[in-house]
Amino acid sequence: MAKLEVLISGAGIAGCTLAYWLTRNDHSVTIVERSGSLRSSGSPVDVRGPAVDVAERMNVATRIREASIRVKGMTLLDSGGRRVARVDIMALRSSLAPKDMEIARGDLARILHAASASDADYIFGDSVKALTHDEMGADVTFEHSRPRRFDLVIGADGLHSIVRRLAFGADPQFVHHAGLYAATISLPGSSDGAGEMFLLNAPGKLAALHPCQGIPLAYFIFWHPVIPEFDYTDLDQHKRVLERTFAGIGWRVPEFLDAVRVARDMYFDSVARVDVAKWANGRIALLGDASSCVSLFGDGSTLAIAGAYELAKALMESPADPQGAFSRYQAVHGRLVASKQKNLISTASRIVPRTPTGLWLSTRVFWRAMGGLGTVMRLVRRFRSS
Ligand SMILES: Cc1cc2nc3c(=O)[nH]c(=O)nc-3n(C[C@H](O)[C@H](O)[C@H](O)COP(=O)(O)OP(=O)(O)OC[C@H]3O[C@@H](n4cnc5c(N)ncnc54)[C@H](O)[C@@H]3O)c2cc1C
Repeated sequence: MAKLEVLISGAGIAGCTLAYWLTRNDHSVTIVERSGSLRSSGSPVDVRGPAVDVAERMNVATRIREASIRVKGMTLLDSGGRRVARVDIMALRSSLAPKDMEIARGDLARILHAASASDADYIFGDSVKALTHDEMGADVTFEHSRPRRFDLVIGADGLHSIVRRLAFGADPQFVHHAGLYAATISLPGSSDGAGEMFLLNAPGKLAALHPCQGIPLAYFIFWHPVIPEFDYTDLDQHKRVLERTFAGIGWRVPEFLDAVRVARDMYFDSVARVDVAKWANGRIALLGDASSCVSLFGDGSTLAIAGAYELAKALMESPADPQGAFSRYQAVHGRLVASKQKNLISTASRIVPRTPTGLWLSTRVFWRAMGGLGTVMRLVRRFRSS
């Protein structure tokens, strides 16, 4: 089998998974990560369906399960912080998708990194700066490391991918703001241990408290047109936007905003759809959010893991024909991506209703239906185990 020299840009969920599978197939992998170390911020993400199968094949499913977060229920609050509705998440999950796992993004990245750390060459604190490619490979210049030639370059560097920008084109062609922004921040103190998630809606806005694993996490999600000159790295800008958007909302939101004011690291980004018609350009291919982002409701990690596996499998089948492998990877994985992207806006509208009428309907119809389903599932479970 032809052994390939592969550069992966981005040590996130997709990049670390791909590094594992490529090194297992004896390819030589260098992975460059812009951040100085593995990033720990971010909200819990889900490992579902096909990604659970991949995690099992990587022998990391047990570690993910051990580190996973077990949210018992989701309680909807009114503006005064009073309980309006509740969904029994544990009953729903264990009946409908018992193998699915929820885990802090940073923990998942750490587990996937550990699986390939001894076989791949990880370079932290650097980034691709320029690249040119021909029929046989790509010449890459880095911010700090010496220039090198690779057989393949994979952009697994997320929503704001540098590889996509350099080899496919500028962001506005591919990145489409879905109308929402999302932010998460850890709060001081510890969660109450009851494993409950609390959500408070105002029209077009959601503030939530996730128990995480003992360290409570505040969520902000809100509909907002494109913020002029939005910069996903500008923490001061993010603080100003959150302060303005969530001012005057009750319950524990003032306490969340206190934490925002003193934050040094906070996840804040536009919720976006990435649509790249062809995920490969010669010897360069895109993976995960870089090719097909569906950020927000946790599906991004499942797609990143499943996509990395499909890409490695296609390359294993025809290492001497990477372009053919890239086409097969997109043909297979593209179907899964399309099914998830289709639902982004409708799911967002149910969880963050935009108008007072939408809010009223969501509480009466969506929350009641989910609450009822949870109760039924709990009863079925009890009946089965009796
Ligand atoms: C710190 C962080 C927090 C997040 N929090 C949330 C969240 O709360 N909710 C949510 O829905 N999604 C969140 N996401 C996105 C979510 O992780 C992804 O949607 C999903 O896991 C898909 O994984 P991915 O590997 O494609 O991208 P990511 O997990 O985003 O990984 C991309 C990696 O590439 C690195 N990178 C970026 N630019 C460069 C560059 N120029 N050179 C080298 N490396 C680069 C990033 O630092 C990151 O490690 C977060 C992402 C990050 C990086």
